[in-house]
Amino acid sequence: MSYIVICFFFGLAGGVVGKIKGSSFFLWFAISALLPFAGLLGALLYRVERDEPRRRCPGCGKVVKAYEALCTRCGTELEYPDVVIEPESAAAARR
Ligand SMILES: [Zn+2]
Repeated sequence: MSYIVICFFFGLAGGVVGKIKGSSFFLWFAISALLPFAGLLGALLYRVERDEPRRRCPGCGKVVKAYEALCTRCGTELEYPDVVIEPESAAAARR
């Protein structure tokens, strides 16, 4: 019984966090209830990546996160850029 209660509250917490981050409450409720801890952690980490500004690698043109020090495709060393590409979350919000 108590395990179900714990799952429920994890689900609730995950759902609220997911909702705050602009995702589906029910999706994260389900994930967090089925996977307590992991699901809630997922909800907390979700969108963090998507909120990162991005930039284009001058070497190969791959879009990488602005904080990357090396291009993940060609290995070009990257300075922190003057111009960043808007985060995926901002781009998605306009759609
Ligand atoms: Zn590159």
